[in-house]
Amino acid sequence: MLNLDDDELATCVSCGLCLPHCPTFRVTGEEALSPRGRISAMRAVHLDGAEPTDDFVRFMETCVQCRGCEPACPSGVPFGRLMEGTRTTLASAQRMTPRWQRLAFKVLGHHRVLLAGSTVLAGAQRLHLVPKRAGLSRLPLRRGKPIEPTGDDAWLFTGCVMDAWLRDTHRSTAKVLDAVGITYRLPDAGASCCGALHTHAGLHADAAALAERVMASMPGDAPIVVDSAGCGAAMKDYGHLLATPEALAFSARVKDVHEFVAPHVDRLRPKRRLGRVIVQDPCHLRHVQRAQAPVRTVLGAVADVVELDDEGLCCGAGGAYSALEPELAGQIRDRKLAAIQRAGGGMVASANPGCSLHLAQAGAVTMHPIELVDRALTQ
Ligand code: SF4
Ligand code: SF4
Repeated sequence: MLNLDDDELATCVSCGLCLPHCPTFRVTGEEALSPRGRISAMRAVHLDGAEPTDDFVRFMETCVQCRGCEPACPSGVPFGRLMEGTRTTLASAQRMTPRWQRLAFKVLGHHRVLLAGSTVLAGAQRLHLVPKRAGLSRLPLRRGKPIEPTGDDAWLFTGCVMDAWLRDTHRSTAKVLDAVGITYRLPDAGASCCGALHTHAGLHADAAALAERVMASMPGDAPIVVDSAGCGAAMKDYGHLLATPEALAFSARVKDVHEFVAPHVDRLRPKRRLGRVIVQDPCHLRHVQRAQAPVRTVLGAVADVVELDDEGLCCGAGGAYSALEPELAGQIRDRKLAAIQRAGGGMVASANPGCSLHLAQAGAVTMHPIELVDRALTQ
């Protein structure tokens, strides 16, 4: 038995309309690596009592959890929940997410350890001690000062890897909030990690514990601004993760930074326009938060937005997926890079750090849309 709701599992009518939207099906052509194939395998184990074989585990592990199959599905199959429930069962039975991965994910909840470890790693990269096949982006040796709070209109969530590796994005978010006249507070150390990667890895208890800490770190009813699409999607799902009225109320306060800034975009006073910028929709912004329109509103205020022609197909980053499944992630990324070339190449705006780093590793020039807005405001 898997940790699944029978009714949710029954909603799939095997029509196959989701298949073209699934990155692992697109690169392999294998039914078992499609949403329909994965649901069929879940049914065999959950309803028919089949053994969860190593092949079964492989079909589940290779899912990017992009949820591109959800908006494509006419029956409303909640595939993300089915996959999370399946992975929770497999991880509880020690069939996936080995000990070293659990240890690495634990570090994300200890921000000082993460900052110190990232600095050591950045130094080792400069000394060429980190092999390229480790697939790690170039980490910053210095992060600059933490952001100072300016007031209490909103909370600005800073998170784990975003703060350790990409603090410049937070700085740009702070400057854009300043520019539209919104003040912000910063959460205490309890908000060290949103738990998204833990949920993806089937570590439900760890994800729930982190969610409780994040909620306690940002009390009250002020909106919570998030500039990482993956973190925002996870925090908007705390209501489901914890199943409490408090978690539901907290999730309702969470806003992707573009959703939050879009209604105030006429307050921006850019010094110049940036020309053409390709917009790449992170899956957890487009398929989960369904917040792709505000990105275009905000970015369009300072640049000429260029669309890709691949209907938001995943880039292969998928949280830790690019590190855990480098071959498939690379093949999926190749399709995205081809779409970028078809769109004319050049600057790519991506609202998720994982996608930005994954694409940049293959030579794409990427920036967070909010950093581009900051650039137009200040240069
Ligand atoms: S979540 Fe993404 S990778 Fe997984 S089955 Fe759905 S479309 Fe395919
Ligand atoms: S998940 Fe939805 S789109 Fe895909 S086969 Fe099932 S019913 Fe059809």
